[in-house]
Parts: sequence; structure tokens; C-alpha cells
Amino acid sequence: MKAEIIVIGTELLLGQIVDTNSQWIAQQLAHIGVDLYYKQTVGDNKDRVVDILQRSLKRANLVIMTGGLGPTQDDLTREAIADALDVKLVKDEGLVIEIEDFFADRGYQMTENNFKQAYLPAGAEAISNRHGTAPGFLVKQEGKIIVALPGVPYEMKRMFKEEVIPYLQANISDDEIIKSKVMKLYGIGESNLEEEIYDILEEQTNPTIAPLASQGEVKLRVTAKADSVVEAEKMIATKLAELEERIGDYVYGYGEEGLEEAVAKSLIEQGLTLATAESCTGGLLGTRLTDVSGSSTYFERGVISYSNQAKRELLGVAEKTLKEYGAVSSQTAKEMALGIKKRAGTDLGLAVTGIAGPTGGRPNKPVGLVYIAMADRKGVSSYKYQFKGGRERVKFLTTQQALQLLLEKI
Ligand code: ATP
Repeated sequence: MKAEIIVIGTELLLGQIVDTNSQWIAQQLAHIGVDLYYKQTVGDNKDRVVDILQRSLKRANLVIMTGGLGPTQDDLTREAIADALDVKLVKDEGLVIEIEDFFADRGYQMTENNFKQAYLPAGAEAISNRHGTAPGFLVKQEGKIIVALPGVPYEMKRMFKEEVIPYLQANISDDEIIKSKVMKLYGIGESNLEEEIYDILEEQTNPTIAPLASQGEVKLRVTAKADSVVEAEKMIATKLAELEERIGDYVYGYGEEGLEEAVAKSLIEQGLTLATAESCTGGLLGTRLTDVSGSSTYFERGVISYSNQAKRELLGVAEKTLKEYGAVSSQTAKEMALGIKKRAGTDLGLAVTGIAGPTGGRPNKPVGLVYIAMADRKGVSSYKYQFKGGRERVKFLTTQQALQLLLEKI
């Protein structure tokens, strides 16, 4: 099955919002073995939506669209689809009731234009939206499938998972299935990893193995083609087991699991508590740690100690240390880690201090220089890193390294 994605919204073209919908849909399609050929973005303009959709329908058998299903003037997706297919918009009585119920349940005032959302291109099947008023729909015409979903990501995702995936799976069951699983690694660079599994990479056919490097981490995507999902999953499991035998020490998780989830698991398993003291990352480390639901079990507090005064007052870093070695130094990092551990009464104290740039670098302390220290029951150790890149990247890589360090030490 050949698929295309069309995302609709002038906000996307103006760069006011980032198109996360098509990325997410693309991942879902890959999981169920649908080949995605094109992704396109178009503004809220009916003629252009009709034009782009007609072109897509010539090339693909499945077109997934998001956005422009709301009740306002600029929401034109349903009209554009009806025009492209040369059918009328017809009122769906079931949707009228759903929309009325939605407003009644919440006590909201309904306006006449909300009923616009009860109109669907003739022949379309509604996909209900429990979280919003814009229903989606699915139209099948001459062997082609068009799926239209609202632009709001969480509404779109729920509808895609609950309604669209089962529909597609039922309709592509005779096709070859492609499935992927991503193995996530830390503590090893991409080139070292490729060296370690050189022979496995050389002989790959099906499943295929693709090394992927993103900011501060390395991943391997294993993709299998098979007649069924079960068979593809079996092939992937066998390949992953082979890889784990070789590089298992570096694996911290699979799929969408990030370093913060892996850290969470380890801390919970070992019943350890943690507090952080951040300088150059300004709270990003704490944000990542608390992005995991349930983090209050192990995360006691995080301090953003940006100035020297804050390092002294909040963490007890000695004036002498700051004067003699500077805020960005191994000594300061260690005192920060010990200070936060003691004050929070946790098992672990993790501290970062560095120069995120682009200003503030000196010959002996260049931009990107970072010290990360970790205090535990046995004492405190500090590690020096030199990151390259802009401010945001240095900040992110610092948190990445701090999480990796934490994972290694616990
Ligand atoms: P609703 O009526 O529920 O708002 P809609 O289908 O009319 O649904 P849009 O108005 O196009 O949706 O978009 C609603 C919001 O959803 C946008 O303001 C934006 O925040 C988000 N959104 C839309 N398209 C995307 C996209 N491709 N990626 C990420 N977010 C998106």
C-alpha cells in the first residue's frame, strides 16, 4: 500500500507551529507496514488543498490528512475533499447528535457553525472524536482511501490509534508486513558501535539494521519484512538477541523509551532517591527527570543555582572554592553534588556546571566545557566534558551525559 500524508494549516507554513502530526503518523504507518511515499504541507486554501489531494490520489492508495476540520471559515478540509472527489457534502444525523451531546455534557453554548462539522463528503464514514467537536472521517472511492483527522495532536492520535489503524490493518492484511524496533544505546559512539557489529551489518538482508545517531545517543533500527506481524516480530526478536549478545552492555531501552525513563526504572528498582543542582542547564535536567510520570518516587528536588551566590546559599559551595577554581570546575561541581545530596537528604546528588555559550568562554575554559558530579553514599566523583555546538545543544548534551552517568553509576 502506497501512502501519502497531507497536513493542512497556514500556521504550519508560517512556521508558527511545528508539524509533529506527520512525523507521528509516519511512525505509525511504518509500524504497520504501510509504505509512505510523500508528505506535504498546504495552507488553509481550498483550491490548493483540492489540487494537492488530486495529485496524491493519482499516486497513492491511501491519503491521510490532518487539520482544517473545525467549525470556522478557514476550516476547509471537508469541502476540499468533497470537491476533489466530485461529491456533495451530506449531513450525518449521527454526528449532529454527537456534537449536540458534546456541548450539552460540558454546558457549552453551541453556535450554528458547529453543525458544519456534521457534514461529510457523500459516502464517508465518520470517525468520532471524544475529545473535541471536529469528527474525522474516512472515504473509500475507487480503491483509494482518504482519511481526514483533526489537527489537534492528541485528538488525532487517539482517533488514529483506535479507529484508523484497525481499519488499515484489516485492509492491508494481504500485503507484506514491515515492522521495526529501535534499540537505544548509551556510552558508545556510532563509529565504535559499527565496528563492534561490523559483520552483522555486512551480512544484513532481512531484517535490516540501520544505525541512527541523534543528539547524544545512538540507536539501531531493526526492520523486518514478513507475511504476518507475528513472523516479523519473531525475526526482529532473533536479530535483537544476536545484537544484545554483542553490545548488550550499552543497551538502555527500546522504542520510544528515553534515557529519563531508563533512569526512572533503575532508581525505582533500587529504591534510590535523587536531587539535582544545575547551573548551565537551568533546570533542563530536572525537567527531563520529571517528564516521567511517577518521578516523585525518586526525585526529591532540583535547584537551579546559576549565580555564585546561589551556589553558596543553596548548596553550601565554599567561597574559597569558587574564588580559587571558578564556578565551572571539578571542585565546584563536587561541592554542588555533595551540597544538594546533604540538604535534600537523598541517596544521590547530581550536579552540572559549565559554559553553554556562545559567550563566556575563555582559552582555559572554552564554551562547551562542562563538569558533571555525582555524590552517593561512598563519596563524590566529577567528570569533565567538552561539548561542541550552540547553547541549546550544549545544554541538551549536558543533560544527556548527566543521565547516562547516572545510569552507569546506579
Ligand atoms: P479543531 O476544530 O479541533 O481545532 P481542526 O481540524 O480544525 O480541529 P486545526 O484548526 O487545523 O484543526 O488545528 C488545530 C490545532 O492543532 C492547531 O492550532 C495546532 O495547534 C494543532 N495542529 C494542527 N496541525 C498540526 C500538525 N500538523 N502538527 C502539530 N500540531 C498541529
